[in-house]
Amino acid sequence: MATANIQQPDHTVAIVGAGFGGLAAGIKLQERGIDDYVIFDRNDDVGGTWLANRYPGVEVDIPSVTYSYKFALNPEWSQVFAPGAELLQYARDIAERYGIRKHIRFGTRVTAADFDDSTDLWTITTAAGDRVTARFLISCHGALSTPATPDLPGLENFSGKVLRSASWDHDYDLTGKKVAVIGTGATGIQIIPTIAPQVQHLTVLQRTAIWVLPKPNAPIPGFLRNIYRAIPKLQLLPRFLIDSTFEIAETIGVVHNKQLPAITRGMEKLCRRHLHSQVKDKRIREQLTPHYGYACKRPSFSNDYFPTFNRDNVDLETESISQITSTGIEFADGSNLAIDTLILATGFKIFDLPYEISGIDGQDLAKTWDSERMYSYEGITVPGFPNLFLAPGPYGVIGFSWFDTIELCVTHAVQVVAKAVKSGSPQVSATDEQTTEFVEKMRKKVRSTVFASPRCAGSNTYYINAQGDSPYLRPTTRIESARSLRKALKEGYEYSA
Ligand code: NAP
Repeated sequence: MATANIQQPDHTVAIVGAGFGGLAAGIKLQERGIDDYVIFDRNDDVGGTWLANRYPGVEVDIPSVTYSYKFALNPEWSQVFAPGAELLQYARDIAERYGIRKHIRFGTRVTAADFDDSTDLWTITTAAGDRVTARFLISCHGALSTPATPDLPGLENFSGKVLRSASWDHDYDLTGKKVAVIGTGATGIQIIPTIAPQVQHLTVLQRTAIWVLPKPNAPIPGFLRNIYRAIPKLQLLPRFLIDSTFEIAETIGVVHNKQLPAITRGMEKLCRRHLHSQVKDKRIREQLTPHYGYACKRPSFSNDYFPTFNRDNVDLETESISQITSTGIEFADGSNLAIDTLILATGFKIFDLPYEISGIDGQDLAKTWDSERMYSYEGITVPGFPNLFLAPGPYGVIGFSWFDTIELCVTHAVQVVAKAVKSGSPQVSATDEQTTEFVEKMRKKVRSTVFASPRCAGSNTYYINAQGDSPYLRPTTRIESARSLRKALKEGYEYSA
């Protein structure tokens, strides 16, 4: 490790991303008196994925009282599962309330970050060619920032309109159009019921069915919102109840699936009953029933997705697509579908880093993960990449609400940064030994998760990557994760003099 030197950076901390993670990082730094930070975001506003994803029907699929910062509870949610526009407004309000905007360089896409071991500084390069130095780098680029375009032959030849969920063209009118939707993940199942009444005909192209739970959604009455405005902390009570339910029904069910398979089996039953009560046609019900275990891929909540298939103007197509033609879709069985509009709700490149990260001796992080499998220390740092904090990195996503992850990862990163700043230490890093121990523990624990179950075969899940690993979710409960992070804070890092 290099020794202290005096070269001053442009900023103490650089943050990538002005979504909820990046905003939290700014707030937490300010709380610790670190005001010299910059946030880069390629968009022209805050909100990250909630700014990009404004497709029809966009709504959070985790109850909003939980899907929000614990330190900035929001009394304004109009319903239990708030519409996307309210999430975006919440991000904007937070940025104003905490004075974050002045730190953000909007319209600035980061293309690379390089660590210089001789100066202990990161140099961040932007698409415009600017180079900015910072002592610490907190990357809050999010998992849902790089949309995945499906590898479908002929897609570029389609002469109709292509709409993408992560960059919806709101000027385009779907009224009276013949439409096909590719993708039946959490996004697709929100778009499909919303547009079905508007279009002339809708064909839903399903490759893998999704487990869908009933959505206990309801408006939050005005009197309750008034109470929350007067005493915001009262929201901690429903939050605690929801968090506990999620921890038991989802996190423990997923993480300890080997020991407690009844939890995911029970969730499957709930989903099947929901499907049965909502879809009249037996054949369609069978097609909509997943052939893999619950939670192998991300389930979702909806009350209006299944009933869409009772409509006369909606078809479910499960034949595989052989190519996109100029006028529509050709299927493997030789049949054709003529359409005006193709909607791609085909997800994100969850594991891709959206910019190059080079550590000591120019070591490239993406290539390292390619050749050595994905790893990190505590889901946040990587040896060989000092002063870098991924919020989150491999094995870093905690629990089922992204806000659990943000709260734990970003707070931890800022605590380590603050300790280094306070002690005047120019370089902080997790050691190889600690990382090896952590990664071995995570990989061992993954063997008990639902992802290691043979029931995940054929689920096409992003929870299992091309290397056969499951480095997305941290395979421990939220409580265990929080405990481990506290321990790591005390003994997990090496601070250079
Ligand atoms: P996703 O879950 O990855 O789903 C993508 C869909 O596109 C899948 O059905 C996939 O089929 C299909 N697909 C991809 N390529 C295809 C191809 N070549 N041919 C046919 N089908 C293809 O993506 P998403 O629905 O955008 O959701 C991503 C994540 O966003 C979710 O898991 C969730 O974490 C988050 N999300 C959250 C909310 C919220 O309210 N909080 C709302 C929406 C989304 P296969 O399954 O066969 O691959």
